[in-house]
Amino acid sequence: MGENIEVQTNISFMDAAKGVQKDIVITPLVQCKTCTGNGMKKGTTKSKCASCEGTGTRVHFMQGGFQMASTCNTCSGTGTTVPRGGECGTCRGNGAVRERKTVTVDIPGGVEDGMRLRVMGEGDHPPTGQATNPNAKTEQGDLYVFIRVAPDAKFSRSGSDVLYTASVPLTTAILGGEIKIPTLDGDVKVKVATGTGTGDKVTLPGMGMKKLQARRAGSNGDLRVEFKVAMPKYLSVNQRTIIEMLADEMGDATAKRVMNLGKYKEEDAAASKTGSAGSAAGKEGHEGEGWLKNAWHNITGQHDHPEQSGQGKSEEKDEEPKKASGSGSG
Ligand SMILES: [Zn+2]
Ligand SMILES: [Zn+2]
Repeated sequence: MGENIEVQTNISFMDAAKGVQKDIVITPLVQCKTCTGNGMKKGTTKSKCASCEGTGTRVHFMQGGFQMASTCNTCSGTGTTVPRGGECGTCRGNGAVRERKTVTVDIPGGVEDGMRLRVMGEGDHPPTGQATNPNAKTEQGDLYVFIRVAPDAKFSRSGSDVLYTASVPLTTAILGGEIKIPTLDGDVKVKVATGTGTGDKVTLPGMGMKKLQARRAGSNGDLRVEFKVAMPKYLSVNQRTIIEMLADEMGDATAKRVMNLGKYKEEDAAASKTGSAGSAAGKEGHEGEGWLKNAWHNITGQHDHPEQSGQGKSEEKDEEPKKASGSGSG
């Protein structure tokens, strides 16, 4: 039996997910072609070892009638000797020589870092030239491929499931929307529910790695997406003003206020009394929205067509400038 060969191969996360064919260069012992493995020059034959008479062992008689068997020194236990100069010149009597060889190995999808893949019969040829019987049936060793899977910048995994953390803009998390996320098969769009928080998850079934043990084709793990809301560490003056307005609107009493929004309310109250344009909404039963508009105009500089969208549509009117701010401030 020949020796096993162990080699290491490095593959990418993607290759581990999909499976890959890898060419691996090894230098195994192969049967010597010159002597076809018997280790002898053409025309020469091994002869029975004279020291041990072909047994490979020598028996020593000790004092007291003991016998002790030991390996024959002359033939190293093979029981045969090679005539002087009778060894095969190519393999020096080994019967096997090292030869560079490329083995194409099919690495299955779903393989994990640290796994060993056994390729039968791609190991060393046994050194048959040393064997007692060079014609005995021999077996090649095996090739073991030790697989290292490189970590991926985007994905991690849990078994056949692929894990991905998706950053969601704060506003998308609040309003809901759709974001693009990478998968093993390219980008896909994923809905973000209104009010999504960090740690909320969605699962895309069947979009993970191939299952290693799967008997049926097309059996895959899942892609598990975890949302992480991207919180701004810094707010511009406009952004802070808007968020403070939101805090007021949502009745948040605990949020810090630094933008002095009260002045807009006062201005609005004053405007209502004098009957200026700012009071229009108030008259329609939207008390308290005037100051919002006032503040809004102050932020965006939009003192434009407040009446164009018509009566009873003030809610839509409020939606419009919010969208505008998203693109304007970015
Ligand atoms: Zn040879
Ligand atoms: Zn011997």
